[in-house]
Amino acid sequence: MRFNKVLQVAAGALALAVVATGCGGGSDKSAGDNAASGKLTVGIKYDQPGLGLHNKDGSFSGFDVDVAKYIGTKLGVKPENITFKEAPSAQRETLIQNGQVDFIAATYSITDKRKEKIDFAGPYYLTGQSLLVRSDNTDITGVESLNGNKKLCSVKGSTPAQNIKDKYAKDVQLQEYDTYSLCVEALKSGSVDALTTDDIILRGYAAQSPGALKVVGKPFTTEKYGIGVKKGDTEIRNKINDAIEAMIADGSWKAALEKNFAGTGFEAPAPPQVDRY
Ligand code: GLU
Repeated sequence: MRFNKVLQVAAGALALAVVATGCGGGSDKSAGDNAASGKLTVGIKYDQPGLGLHNKDGSFSGFDVDVAKYIGTKLGVKPENITFKEAPSAQRETLIQNGQVDFIAATYSITDKRKEKIDFAGPYYLTGQSLLVRSDNTDITGVESLNGNKKLCSVKGSTPAQNIKDKYAKDVQLQEYDTYSLCVEALKSGSVDALTTDDIILRGYAAQSPGALKVVGKPFTTEKYGIGVKKGDTEIRNKINDAIEAMIADGSWKAALEKNFAGTGFEAPAPPQVDRY
């Protein structure tokens, strides 16, 4: 190869490397490599009380945060060396695929469609889609009352929004927002009639606004929360599965749920069985 050509090839490779790693702060390093160097970046929700919350003082709290910290510790990373990053529902697969996060713990349902792009450890929690309404509402009592063209809020890229599109599109007007906290505001102000997503998420919002909001009906889907990891990274998936099993076995799993939902009347259900697919 002529020298010019070598330079050209080298420059091309460099440009590719810049595109691969520079764009959006992604990294080529595996989650295992990052953990081995003592640091992890974890995607969580920032606006879901009891699950993933970015508090006013800059701290992070919630069951997903505690699960992430427990996993981090098992991977050799101290909680203070975890950088939390907001992972809105519609952006989760992309954040993992681009290497912008090492894993995601953000009320993330395991689905076959998502498994085409990423892999999941877990499940570490089982819940189901439910409905949240204003406390004075009497005509929405459960999934069977989703009719009459009511305005229903959910979030882009979420399984509950997809389920409404698949099964109830003729009966209700679905409005898709970027986050559930925006739906809660719309519900409180009266611009939507109900909010639908997982029961445990709705219980967090109901507890945050006592007397104003209530969860109605019974859960009408099964949502299995998993930890999203890069597709094909079996090593990290196995290690995270080991950590989830340890968290359940040593009582930390139940303690974390009880701590994060204290005073809400919520009772920790039985833990799920990790699926080593
Ligand atoms: N668990 C559902 C999902 O993964 C809804 C909750 C969420 O959007 O985070 O899509």
